Amino acid sequence: MITATWTVTDGWAAPELKPFGPISLMPTASCLQYATECFEGLKLYRGYDGKLRLFRPELNCRRFQKSAERIALPAFSESELLKLLTVLAATDGPRWLPKSAPGTFLYVRPTMIATDPSIGVQRPKEAMLMLFFNLMPAFYANPDGLKLLASEEHTVRAWPGGYGNVKLGANYGPSLKSQGEAKARGFSQILWLLPRDGGRLDVTESGASNFFVVWRTKEGKTELVTAPLDGKLILEGVTRQSLLDLVRERLQDVEVIERVFDMQEIVEAVGEGRLAEAFTAGTAFFVSPVSEIEFHGKRLEMPMAKTGRAPYATMLRDWLSDIKYGKEEHHDWAYLVQEKD
Ligand SMILES: *Cc1c(COP(=O)(O)O)cnc(C)c1O
Repeated sequence: MITATWTVTDGWAAPELKPFGPISLMPTASCLQYATECFEGLKLYRGYDGKLRLFRPELNCRRFQKSAERIALPAFSESELLKLLTVLAATDGPRWLPKSAPGTFLYVRPTMIATDPSIGVQRPKEAMLMLFFNLMPAFYANPDGLKLLASEEHTVRAWPGGYGNVKLGANYGPSLKSQGEAKARGFSQILWLLPRDGGRLDVTESGASNFFVVWRTKEGKTELVTAPLDGKLILEGVTRQSLLDLVRERLQDVEVIERVFDMQEIVEAVGEGRLAEAFTAGTAFFVSPVSEIEFHGKRLEMPMAKTGRAPYATMLRDWLSDIKYGKEEHHDWAYLVQEKD
């Protein structure tokens, strides 16, 4: 792993590359008491052409800055963070992702915590940056599709003006109770709704992934719809942005719409047979089609529940995967990592 420490008086010390292992903190450490923590998640891919790649890592480095800023952690240069990612990738990549195993990946978790041991509720004066890899079992989207449970009105993930738009640990701990209950009832994830005035229930995200629908409008147009980034509700997913970019570029007959939309619109579209697909997208689980959503005790079935197919989600997943694993050569979004043989 790579670690670097910071103090308000001396700034950042030189980062160290060392074996993965425990770190030492005082019980009063700011991150333990006040959740002063932020993180990133991206992957290192072993391509079918034998090369190692990151996917748009500069976007993760920028988002990491935004997250750190929001939770009173110090800034860490985006370009320096990218250098550290590259060093760690060049060190661990050849060992854990051998050339003989193309199509595999490692998950990278840049993390920053406030280590300040003073118990006062205040802006931390000490912090630590950590970067390490994690071997995740290869994940294959359930071929039958995800089953989502719409959240109850009394539990929200994020709220206007809050911090749902940044990757803070503080967003995830409080979601685990609902997630655990959903899992115990056979659902894959929670679909997070946000109650608004007039009883509207806006659709925001699903688990730790962005959420999309493809539907036909009453006028017969095909739209790809996802929640907009304003209001600090929605995490600005790298996968989200990439899918929107790809559809705008490659699918002329699908209009990309970033707007507030609510559960009633989904219920109506399903009822009128206009809903083509729903899917979730994020680094951890790629693009995963949804087969049903349980809302207010009723099951809303997506066409996939009958047909077993989700052509848009499948096509988008393949496009991304071709870029990440180098089947599509020289794409701007693929960031090549030079290995030390
Ligand atoms: C990380 C995350 C995403 C997906 O972001 P990617 O950059 O695509 O991995 C979406 N929503 C939430 C809440 C997340 O934490």
